[in-house]
Amino acid sequence: MTISFDPDRIELPLGHWIGDRLVSGAPEIELLRPSDAVSYARCPVASTDIVDQAVSTAKSALRSSGWATWRPRLRAEALHRWADLIIAEGEKLGRLESLSSARPIAQSVSIDVAVTAEQIRFFAEMADKEGGDVVPTDGNHLGMILSEPYGVVGAITPWNVPLSMAGWKMGPALAAGNAIVLKPSELTPFSTLYLAELAVRAGIPAGIVNVVLGDGPTTGASIVAHPDIAKVSFTGSTVAGGAIMKTIASSQIKPVTLELGGKSPQVVFASADLKKAAGCIARSILLNAGQTCVAGTRVIADRRIAEPLLAALTEAMSTHRAGPTWDAESDYSPVISERQLQRIETIVDASITGGAECVIGGKRMERQGYFYEPTILANLAANSPALAEEIFGPVLTLQTFDDEEEAFALSDHPSYGLAAGVYTTDLSQGLRAAKRIEAGTIWVNRYGRSRDHILPTGGYKSSGIGKDLGKEAYKSNRRQKSVLIEL
Ligand code: NAD
Repeated sequence: MTISFDPDRIELPLGHWIGDRLVSGAPEIELLRPSDAVSYARCPVASTDIVDQAVSTAKSALRSSGWATWRPRLRAEALHRWADLIIAEGEKLGRLESLSSARPIAQSVSIDVAVTAEQIRFFAEMADKEGGDVVPTDGNHLGMILSEPYGVVGAITPWNVPLSMAGWKMGPALAAGNAIVLKPSELTPFSTLYLAELAVRAGIPAGIVNVVLGDGPTTGASIVAHPDIAKVSFTGSTVAGGAIMKTIASSQIKPVTLELGGKSPQVVFASADLKKAAGCIARSILLNAGQTCVAGTRVIADRRIAEPLLAALTEAMSTHRAGPTWDAESDYSPVISERQLQRIETIVDASITGGAECVIGGKRMERQGYFYEPTILANLAANSPALAEEIFGPVLTLQTFDDEEEAFALSDHPSYGLAAGVYTTDLSQGLRAAKRIEAGTIWVNRYGRSRDHILPTGGYKSSGIGKDLGKEAYKSNRRQKSVLIEL
């Protein structure tokens, strides 16, 4: 059986998932397939009224089902049934994911579906294991910290890996006893809608999971500002994260978790296994054509090994199969949209005009759709836009250093601090780097998240506030109440 599919024969759920059904909405935002630029659907935009309907549905579902006070084991079991259904419906979910996003179908099914189910199971297992505390007080008192869900959590996700971003938000919010109203990116709404339908089929009470479609300024801002949304969890660009903070400041103060952009370095020391480092770096930037928040786009190499590293990188980056996301043979993604492709072109072209040497790539591919060639830029001016700005495309820059301090100084970005990679066979040097580099995640002799969902992810500096994944994500979906009883 092949998992390739015909993009013209996919039935799309087009509406908002509220309670236990699709509520239709007028088609508004035109959607083009990234693989061939063909227009295939229009995404509705939920008005404030529709958002209000979703939030009220979530509130009444919490009240009528008692979801927050279910025996935690029962909540965990419902989430496990949901994960089972996600796996069982993996090919359909994968098709919905790959049609609109840049994810090749083979990766959607084998990685995104699998990881989403795993994340939900991971958080399900926390439901009956993480709770409050009894704390030391003087003998005449009993002090307790109660841990309680917020109520209705609002979540907003980006287009780059839609399914697993939904898993990051839904898993901990639900396991912790909340209901959720989630807005996926207007470019990639379909797999998230189907996730919500599967939640109801798994026995999660209708109304606990709601998905509304729409853009940021209308639908996203309405979720954030809604008085009954008790907490906001956002993943997307730093600019949109700032807009969300403004909305919160001008509507109603509430907690917010922000997973934002990055400009992550990969530092290669002279002792590193160069072939392995080049393979890791190439895979990390080829994945999703560099459209990952943690893309390690800034390669910073010891001057003595820069030349052989560049040769190994050039070779490793030439092995990829660009093709439509619905072809099971494709492993290299298109860029999500013409707009994003133009942004990559603008940054690369300006960097080359500013003196950068284009070692490979540097232009869009001559084929249908929004494909950009894997690109390496070297000899960049210190103020090159390719070093400063998040490109969100398959572009590596190469800088060199002469000593460790210079390596660390180059690795720090003035505003971003999401992740970093370090390649060395010197254990002490690896540990020094892990302590010194300012980023929320450091990978040594590898690059990219593993499937150990216990490790939280989140940024330093303007890359974010708070964490997704790990116990931290579960805890951030509950609030603490201190109780002091005089005996
Ligand atoms: P984006 O910020 O344009 O959009 C993300 C989501 O926010 C979308 O659903 C969008 O509709 C919504 N949105 C936009 N403006 C809004 C507003 N004013 N109020 C409320 N919602 C609003 O990001 P994108 O282009 O979809 O995704 C790419 C970005 O996401 C990159 O910057 C990437 O680094 C970041 N990202 C970060 C992580 C992480 O874990 N840190 C993970 C994935 C992606």
